[in-house]
Amino acid sequence: MPNRELIDPAGRRVNYLRLSVTDRCNLNCFYCRNDPSTCFKRQKKELAKQDFVRIIKTAADIGITKVRLTGGEPLLYPEIIALVHEIASIPKIRDISMTTNAILLPQYAYQLKKAGLKRVNISLDSLQELNFKQITNGGALKYVLEGIDAALDAGLTPLKINVVLLKGINDHEIADFARLTLDRELHVRFIEYMPIGGKSEQWDSHFLSLDKVVEVCSKISHFVPAESENGGGPARYFRLQGGKGKIGLITPLSRHFCKNCNRLRVTCDGKLKPCLFSEKEIDLVPALKATNYKELLIKKILAALKVKPDPRLVATASKDRARQFKGNRKMNEIGG
Ligand code: SAM
Ligand code: SF4
Repeated sequence: MPNRELIDPAGRRVNYLRLSVTDRCNLNCFYCRNDPSTCFKRQKKELAKQDFVRIIKTAADIGITKVRLTGGEPLLYPEIIALVHEIASIPKIRDISMTTNAILLPQYAYQLKKAGLKRVNISLDSLQELNFKQITNGGALKYVLEGIDAALDAGLTPLKINVVLLKGINDHEIADFARLTLDRELHVRFIEYMPIGGKSEQWDSHFLSLDKVVEVCSKISHFVPAESENGGGPARYFRLQGGKGKIGLITPLSRHFCKNCNRLRVTCDGKLKPCLFSEKEIDLVPALKATNYKELLIKKILAALKVKPDPRLVATASKDRARQFKGNRKMNEIGG
């Protein structure tokens, strides 16, 4: 029987798998990809549900306990409810969650909950209709707001809202987002814009360190440290004094958290990625086709673990970073 813990050469325990189930999306956020014409079309052929399930079952046998479904927009994967149900039925998987733009949640929230999904993170970069439309290249804010209500009604909680901070685009909305945590039990997490996906000159113009969030929140009220998530995670949490929800800061660039990274990623076409910032990929497809697929998949997962980049080698913010990741996949393919 293989080891039941995955420990990488830097001593990090890896127990979290992020699965990008499709690269298609029903929004078209400018920072996520640099060719708007590709957004609604499938770029890479998605694995069949049974292949995703095989990967997760095998990974669970050797130490993966948490799974997040992402994309593209995961709710566009044709068998998403059945996939959630099968993953939730794997005894060693203790936590299954999803990152979504929420557009389809009014339709799916209850079915997802019933199938075993525990919670959702919802991406929302503006609370203003026109601004939202511009960021997403045509999306309608009202559907996302309805999606948030549907997720809360269905009990897909704790609900987290992810906001990518974009200089000159949504930094004037920091206080509005922060105030959402005052009387609702939802968490707003600000994320630094990463130079992956969109055009590098856009990153040069719109990257803003999350120090700005601290500055704005400190003017609203006392901005006090709050308890971190169960099982770690990249966010540092704070609270506006008296607020029901928390404010998270995810700073991959200004203060990177690679030394605590516990994750591997699988793309929709079956490539295992040891690190978001790495161009290295290990193809799982040949293993999936073999009769001894389990044995072969374990070998591939252990190989990915071995090449997970050393946290000390992952550079901190610099303008050159944007160019450094040019050959990498777009964010809609990797899954954020
Ligand atoms: N479509 C779903 C959604 O938007 O929630 C899931 C996929 S999306 C790629 C996952 C997350 O990655 C979203 O929160 C999105 O805002 C974030 N993301 C995409 N491109 C990014 C970038 N260049 N820098 C930082 N976050 C990014
Ligand atoms: Fe789609 Fe999510 Fe990328 Fe926006 S961030 S284009 S919603 S995959």
